[in-house]
Amino acid sequence: MGNEPTQAETDRIALANLVLTLRRRGVRDRRIYAAIENIPRRMFLSIENKAHAWEDRPLPIECGQTISAPSMVAMMTEALEVGPGDRVLEIGTGSGYQTSVLSRLCREVYTIERYRSLTALAEERFAVLRFSNIVTRVDDGINGWPEKAPFDRILVTASAQAAPRALVEQLKVGGIMVMPLGPAVGPQQLMKVVRTQRGADLTAVGPVRFVPLVPGVANKL
Ligand code: SAH
Repeated sequence: MGNEPTQAETDRIALANLVLTLRRRGVRDRRIYAAIENIPRRMFLSIENKAHAWEDRPLPIECGQTISAPSMVAMMTEALEVGPGDRVLEIGTGSGYQTSVLSRLCREVYTIERYRSLTALAEERFAVLRFSNIVTRVDDGINGWPEKAPFDRILVTASAQAAPRALVEQLKVGGIMVMPLGPAVGPQQLMKVVRTQRGADLTAVGPVRFVPLVPGVANKL
């Protein structure tokens, strides 16, 4: 009798819990907390999953893909050490949620997705939220975006056995790429790749599970 919590109340508590989870996981950058608190994750989900928006877990999105858990988005973003003046390349737009978080922390995000329909949905969300520093492209992200290179930062949100050469080449010297490496099914590590004059230095951030990078533009939708 009037004691049922409203969706807004439920959301507020769930968001507070999420913030506590991020603290426990060692996320330190205040800008990341601000971005996560201010971007409505429910907007990036389909109707049947909207109620789970503030739960800290990955959820299915269209085209058989997944939106990462918020703590994963936060940890990847923190590992990327994004600065306000940075131009960032993202491979795997997906729902556009990680793209949106990045867009609040840097100058421009260039994001590539192999499914046209995912890109179209993400573009609508960016428009509604008025995130105007995001440039999308439907293509195979393994080749990067040579016309816009070099980038200060590159974030890959799908896994591969090794860092794609084109992506390492499109990173500025001293620039950072964060990406999951490992078999499509099996143990993967989130890696931090720092571009050097002659190549790249890799360090492991921690174990993760991501959908694989798939070559070529998707031929369905
Ligand atoms: N960061 C996303 C999660 C994306 S899941 C989010 O926040 O929602 C990984 C995405 O990478 C999927 O959408 C998949 O279609 C895309 N992907 C896989 N291989 C790709 C490739 N070669 N080029 C571009 N995108 C790719």
